[in-house]
Amino acid sequence: MQLTRTEQPRIRSAYTRQNPPPDEPPKGVDELTGWQLAAAQWRRHLPDDLLGVDCVVCQIAWPCDAWEIANDIINSSRDNADRAPIEPTWEETLEERPRPRIRRAAQTEPA
Ligand SMILES: [Zn+2]
Repeated sequence: MQLTRTEQPRIRSAYTRQNPPPDEPPKGVDELTGWQLAAAQWRRHLPDDLLGVDCVVCQIAWPCDAWEIANDIINSSRDNADRAPIEPTWEETLEERPRPRIRRAAQTEPA
């Protein structure tokens, strides 16, 4: 009896073949295009249905490089999204307005 290779603990992914990354990035992910490309690549480079050991596109042992790259992008996108982005709006309001400096006007007398 052989164990299925579907569970590989070293792979870190929030998604599975049954629940692949969607085209619509999760909330907080700003890199829309990057996410969509990675998600599409992720869904393409999956192990084949028959044996589930080789990537259907690359025909090499899964996970292939292409899938791992896509998975890394997706993971880091999600990691970054978890951190609340700093809204620059209030920083801008606190920012000091350039005050007109009182300068001693150099007396440039016309000669
Ligand atoms: Zn592949």
